[in-house]
Amino acid sequence: MSTYLRCNDVKSNYYDEKEVTLRGWIHRIRKQKEITFVLLRDDRGGVIQFTIPTKKAIDLTIESCIQISGNVKKDARAPEGGYEIRGKDLKIFGTAPADYPIGEYQSQDLLLDYRHLAVRTRRMSTIAKIRASILKFSRQWFIENDWLEINAPVIVKDAVEGGSSLFEIKYFDRIAFLSQSAQLYLEAMVFALGPVWSITESFRAERSRTVRHLAEFTHLEAEAPWMYQEELMKVQENLVSFIIQNTLTNNSPDFEFLNRNVKELSSISPPFERMSYGKAVDILRSRDFTVLCGDGAHRKIEWGDDLNIESERELTKDCVKPLFVYEFPIDTKPFYVREDPTKSEISLSTDLLAPRGFGEISSGSERESDVESIEKRIEKQSLDPKAYGWYLDLRRYGSVPHSGFGLGMDRLVRWILGMEDIKDVVLFPRTMSRVTP
Ligand code: ATP
Ligand code: MG
Repeated sequence: MSTYLRCNDVKSNYYDEKEVTLRGWIHRIRKQKEITFVLLRDDRGGVIQFTIPTKKAIDLTIESCIQISGNVKKDARAPEGGYEIRGKDLKIFGTAPADYPIGEYQSQDLLLDYRHLAVRTRRMSTIAKIRASILKFSRQWFIENDWLEINAPVIVKDAVEGGSSLFEIKYFDRIAFLSQSAQLYLEAMVFALGPVWSITESFRAERSRTVRHLAEFTHLEAEAPWMYQEELMKVQENLVSFIIQNTLTNNSPDFEFLNRNVKELSSISPPFERMSYGKAVDILRSRDFTVLCGDGAHRKIEWGDDLNIESERELTKDCVKPLFVYEFPIDTKPFYVREDPTKSEISLSTDLLAPRGFGEISSGSERESDVESIEKRIEKQSLDPKAYGWYLDLRRYGSVPHSGFGLGMDRLVRWILGMEDIKDVVLFPRTMSRVTP
C-alpha cells in the first residue's frame, strides 16, 4: 500500500490546476455524447466529480474500481465541494457487471440482504466512521484514566444474565455457551490488575424482535476494586461525556452528512440526572402507567416491576441528559448484584437511560461478596451452581469490595446517531431472522 490522496484532500487552492491521481469506485455516472461525468468515491466515503471523454469511458460501470489521473479544477458548478478533475488517464482495477443490485431507493430488507455491498453506501460508511471514533475515544478514556484492557473468552460454561437467552454450542464432546457478558472474568482480574475493562462481543438469544436488541452485540465492560455506587456512576458519566464530546468534534462533517442535529448532545456533561427506582415508580403510577401481565391484561405499574422500555421512554422523554436509575428491587437483578445492607430488598445497582426515550444503555452494580447469598440466588435464578465454583473462589480468597458496569456500544452509537433501529449502526447485524451476510 503506497500513500495515496483521497478525494477531499485535493479540494483546495493548493491542488487547483495540479495533476493528481486518485483511486476509488464509481459512485455515479452520467454519459453524454462527448463527455462523461463520474462521481468517484474513495475508500473513506469521500467523493469528487471527474470528467472524461466518453470514448474512454466505455467500460465504466457503477462500482467498478479505478484509478484516475488528471488536473484539479476549481469550478463552483462541480458537486460536492466545488472542485472537479479533468480526467486524462484511467486504469481499471476491477470491473463491475452492469447489474449492481443496490440503487438509490431500496427497501430495508434488500439493503440487509446485500449488506456486504450496502456497507459501501456513504450513509453506512459515515455511520461506521462515527462508530470507529466512539470506540477510539472509549479506549482513550480508559488509557488516560489508568484502567487496563483485558480480553475475556467468549466460549464459557456459565450464564451471567439468566439461562433463557443462552446460545448453546457443541464444544468437542460437551456443551458450552457463547458468553452473555465478560463480567465474571473482569471480576477475576480485579484481584490481579485493579481497574480493568474490555470490549467483547456478547451473545443473547433474545427472541424479542425490537429495535434495541441484537443476538450479538459489542459490549464494553469495566470493573474496579474499592469502587462503590457513587463512583460507579461518576465513571460512566465521565466516560460517556468524553466519548460524545470528542466524537462530535472529530466527526462534525459526518454528523452533518447524516443530518444529525447535535445541539443537545453537545451539552452532555457530568453530572447526569439521578432518580431512585422508587421515585420512578411513583412518577409512573401518578401518570397511570400500566404494564403487561402474563395473561395479556394490563395493570398499573407496581413497586417490584422491572422498568420496561415504555417506562424508560416515559421517564426520559423530556430529558436532555442521560438518567441514572438506582435502588432497583434486588429481585429484578442478577445473582451477583449486591443487596444494600441498610435497605432490605434494595440492590446497589444503577441503570443508565439515554435521554429522549432511547432507553437503557448500561447497567452497573456493586457486586455481592457473601458466598452463601450468591449461592442462594444462583439457585433461585435456575442456574447451575456447579458452573460457578471458580467464581465463588473469588469471594473465598481475599474478596474485595468491587463494582462494575456493562455498556452496550451499539445502543450508545444508536443514541448518539439518533437512529431508530439498532441494525442501522452495526455493519453485519445478527438477529433472530438474520445470520448472513
Ligand atoms: P434490556 O433490558 O434493555 O434488554 P438488559 O438489562 O438485559 O437490557 P444487561 O444485561 O444489563 O442488559 O446488559 C448490559 C448492556 O448491554 C445493556 O444496558 C445494553 O446496553 C446492552 N445490551 C444488552 N442486551 C443487548 C442486546 N440484545 N442487544 C444490544 N445491546 C444489548
Ligand atoms: Mg440491564
